[in-house]
Amino acid sequence: MHPGRFRLLRQGPDRTGPVLYWMHREHRASDNWGLLFAQEQAIARGVPLAVAHCLDPAYPGAALRHFAFLLAGLRQTEAALRHCGIPLLSCLGDPAREIPALAHKVKAAVLVLDFDPLRHKQAWARAVVEAVEAEVWEADSRNIVPCRAASSKKEWAARTLRPKIHRLLPEYLEQPPRLAPHPHPWPAKVPAVHWDRTLTALAPDPSVPPVDWIAPGETAAARALDDFIETRLPLYADQKNDPNKQAVSLLSPYLHFGQLSSLRAALAVSRAGAPDRARDVFLEELIVRRELADNFCLHEPAYDRFQGFPDWARKTLDKHRGDRREYVYGRDGLEAGQTHDPLWNAAQRQMTATGHLHGWLRMYWAKKILEWSASPEAAQDTAVALNDRWLLDGRDPNGYAGIAWSLGGVHDRPWGERPVFGTVRFMSFKGACGKFDVPGFIRTWGGED
Ligand SMILES: Cc1cc2nc3c(=O)[nH]c(=O)nc-3n(C[C@H](O)[C@H](O)[C@H](O)COP(=O)(O)OP(=O)(O)OC[C@H]3O[C@@H](n4cnc5c(N)ncnc54)[C@H](O)[C@@H]3O)c2cc1C
Repeated sequence: MHPGRFRLLRQGPDRTGPVLYWMHREHRASDNWGLLFAQEQAIARGVPLAVAHCLDPAYPGAALRHFAFLLAGLRQTEAALRHCGIPLLSCLGDPAREIPALAHKVKAAVLVLDFDPLRHKQAWARAVVEAVEAEVWEADSRNIVPCRAASSKKEWAARTLRPKIHRLLPEYLEQPPRLAPHPHPWPAKVPAVHWDRTLTALAPDPSVPPVDWIAPGETAAARALDDFIETRLPLYADQKNDPNKQAVSLLSPYLHFGQLSSLRAALAVSRAGAPDRARDVFLEELIVRRELADNFCLHEPAYDRFQGFPDWARKTLDKHRGDRREYVYGRDGLEAGQTHDPLWNAAQRQMTATGHLHGWLRMYWAKKILEWSASPEAAQDTAVALNDRWLLDGRDPNGYAGIAWSLGGVHDRPWGERPVFGTVRFMSFKGACGKFDVPGFIRTWGGED
């Protein structure tokens, strides 16, 4: 295993005790470097291994749609782990308190946790590192080239991160080993997790209901990857920007919840028989764009704030603060999809009904919120709130980076100056009509063009 994926966060006392892997981002038993590393530690020490998981009812932005998907996937992961003799120890509450309590109770000698750049996850990790006595390691299993290894600073754009990623990629594009049955059994009986009861106990916001177009879990994720490679990858490069075409992968919910490893997807796509261009364009999104988002959130504390925009964008947006807005909508009108723009309303309907929105439309959707909000700050608050509430893949660095790109020129450059946007790139309804069948999309999502 490449040592660059793991970082020692805390030296622990040299003592005997089991190894715990705290799974909080990579919810899968296969292709999971954190789990594999934890097992390697446990085998070297001749001790049992368990996976810890803590569900936080107060997780920012999460509703029934998200918890139902996560828990259905975890149920499968628990079974796969059990098959290898590794119990899943599940708890409910604030992970900053529950995980140290669990580590203390089982007298863990080593704790391995997932890397995650989001501020509440970083705060959890800091609190856990302070509170436990065990040795603590961080594993980056989300990025193919680990975020901290790819770059030690905030990158300006894809063009500055790309060469760094491509230089290191051959080292990290390695097939992970299969999780082996663990040779040292857990010393106590672990009661089965009652997932349905857990969902009820979480009491998530029921007004964002589960969706049924996508099956949760590792097995479904692997099937969805195969299906994409077989049927849509060859079309990806030419048709990915057309929301009416079935060309994109729809893998983001699996990638977001860690039910699919991007490494597995990248290896499978690299070996596929699709045209080179299709593979290259897809891998650019899956690796460079996706890993750029983690880089942004790790190095920019204000990743979801106006202060996180580059200087040039803040200046130009400040200059245009007073510009007259032809339309101003509050969050409620937007959330209900009640604007004068039928394309925007249709996009909002797709998002609320399915938890998915096509990638090109996400840019249009966010830019219109800037155009119709009283200030860039109000636009960003609304875009983040709606994105995180309705999208199954919301609450993800990709979302914060995507919104900051759309509203505040992050990873972009200045364009021609115009009202409200200043020199931040603008997108128009007319431009959309030149790209794809806008009336067709509006009809699909139940509107009148
Ligand atoms: C305003 C806005 C909001 C967004 N919100 C989110 C979000 O909440 N969660 C989320 O995962 N993505 C978000 N994105 C990024 C991107 O639009 C989605 O990841 C993509 O549309 C998901 O669909 P797919 O899996 O079919 O993508 P595909 O086109 O098949 O791409 C494959 C994978 O590559 C990654 N990827 C693709 N485009 C990007 C990108 N621009 N930036 C980073 N990674 C990318 C994703 O992991 C995606 O699943 C947002 C983009 C914008 C502009």
